[in-house]
Amino acid sequence: MKRRKKRMAKIIDGKLISAKIKTAIRAEANTLKEKGIEIGLAVVIVGDDPASRVYVNNKKKDCEEVGFSSFEYALPGETTQEELLKLVGELNNDNQVNGILVQLPLPPHINENKVLSAICPDKDVDAFHPENVGHIMVGDYKFLPCTPAGVMEMLDDAEIEVSGKNCVVIGRSNIVGKPMAMLLLHKNGTVTICHSKTRNLKEICAGADILVAAVGKEKFVTADMVKEGAVVIDVGMNRNSEGKLCGDADYNACFDKASYITPVPGGVGPMTRAVLMKNTLTSAKMKNNI
Ligand code: NAP
Repeated sequence: MKRRKKRMAKIIDGKLISAKIKTAIRAEANTLKEKGIEIGLAVVIVGDDPASRVYVNNKKKDCEEVGFSSFEYALPGETTQEELLKLVGELNNDNQVNGILVQLPLPPHINENKVLSAICPDKDVDAFHPENVGHIMVGDYKFLPCTPAGVMEMLDDAEIEVSGKNCVVIGRSNIVGKPMAMLLLHKNGTVTICHSKTRNLKEICAGADILVAAVGKEKFVTADMVKEGAVVIDVGMNRNSEGKLCGDADYNACFDKASYITPVPGGVGPMTRAVLMKNTLTSAKMKNNI
């Protein structure tokens, strides 16, 4: 019996690529500082969700690393929608603030869409405002949403051609799946979006040249869903039974079939953070007509 030769995927190292991006951002921020331009990011967190707390702390660290000021607003879980909207209004008018990020999820009594729509589009560094979403649809944008843009940077860094490829995105959230599909389409990928009502999910995934998983379920992507030589991009961030961070892909099994794979941790996560810094820099440059 002929045995399948074991393939070893190349790892796309998000930590390394994001470090390169942040170094370039720091250099630009220093140049702007010499011209008297300081860059600031405001991060708003409502409640005490531990995962959100970690993300906010990481964003503060990133700001320090690239030489931005960070302004944190940690509001209690009982904060009303009106109070939050008032704060967003103040930040919109604050000259020290170039980017405003409201950490999601918000408590259930607050309408997320209302809050995101209240952020000034020029300071919407997450690119979740409907105006920015529309710009992304037509391919004429100021900011790209951080996670999908981070994925595109990874594909670019690894010199993976998207044009003409079968791209399958699992997940259709507004923050990952939908914009991810749009960015792949802009690069001329032939894109299929899968979700919880998709029939023949395994077969569809097994036809992908580029498979992006943004589901939020540990070991959701199994080896039989991966075509030999496919590129596997794992957006998922889950905790396994030991409490360790893991993605959506059964990493070891997929590693043997894929040509490229992104690890978790150290893959898409750091890229998302780097793009947030990039968007904040872009906002500061736009404000100063640079
Ligand atoms: P989400 O809003 O919960 O969306 C999950 C998507 O997965 C939905 O579209 C859902 O389909 C789909 N899905 C769920 N079960 C499925 C199934 N059995 N078959 C097919 N599709 C299924 O999550 P999200 O915000 O997009 O995030 C997805 C994952 O990415 C999470 O683990 C999150 O923590 C992670 N994430 C990582 C980063 C990063 O920087 N690395 C950034 C953001 C998010 P329906 O729409 O039909 O329900």
